[in-house]
Amino acid sequence: MSPHPTPGDLVDLVDALLARPAPAPIVTAGDPVLRTPAIPYDGQLDGERFHGLIRLMRATMNQAPGVGLAAPQIGVPLRLAVMEDPARVRPGTTEEALRARERGPQPFRVLVNPRYEAMGARLAAFYEGCLSVPGWQAVTARHHTVRLTGQDETGRELDEEVRGWPARIVQHETDHLGGTLYLDRAEIRSLAADRHVLERWSAPVPGPAADALGFPLPGR
Ligand code: ZN
Repeated sequence: MSPHPTPGDLVDLVDALLARPAPAPIVTAGDPVLRTPAIPYDGQLDGERFHGLIRLMRATMNQAPGVGLAAPQIGVPLRLAVMEDPARVRPGTTEEALRARERGPQPFRVLVNPRYEAMGARLAAFYEGCLSVPGWQAVTARHHTVRLTGQDETGRELDEEVRGWPARIVQHETDHLGGTLYLDRAEIRSLAADRHVLERWSAPVPGPAADALGFPLPGR
C-alpha cells in the first residue's frame, strides 16, 4: 500500500483481513507499515467493518498471546489499538514480579487516536517485548504515570491518569501508531532472547541483568 492510502484502500484492506479466519498474521519489524505514522481514525470504516476490525485485533492479541496490539501490527495504518491484560502468574512471572511492575488484571479496551504525556518525572525500567519483534525482549524505561487522551470505540473522549504496567502498555501501543518500536527506546545492551529472560532475568527488578550485561538502570 502507498504511504497515503485512500479511504477506499482502507476499506479494501480491512475487507481482505475480515475475509480470512482469525487471527490475522502479525506484521514483524522490517515492514514499513511499522515505521510509518498511522492515520487518525475519523470514521473511514462503517460500523460493521470498524467493529469487525476491533474483534479481529482482539482475537489476534489474545491468541498471540499479548497484552496490546496496534492496528499497524496487522497491516492497517489507522490510529487504533487494543489492550487487555489477564496478569496471570506463569513461567517467568511471579506474584512478586507482578507487584514490582504494578501489573494487575486489565479489562479489554479500545484506544482510538490515543495520545499520552508524562505525569511527573518518575521512570520505570523493566524487560518488555513486542509481538512484532518475536523472540526478544529488552529493558525499556517508560514513564511510570501518563495522561492518556483520545477516544474509545464509542467516540467517548478519554482523559485519564494511567500508572504502572498499564501505563507501559499505553505508551508501547501509542508509540506503534507513531512508527516507533520499543527497541528505539530500549537499553540495547539488555537485549535478550526470551529463553534468557525466562531462565536468567526474571527477577522482579532487572538489576541482576543490568550488572551482568552492562547497561544502566534508571533510578539506580
Ligand atoms: Zn509492540
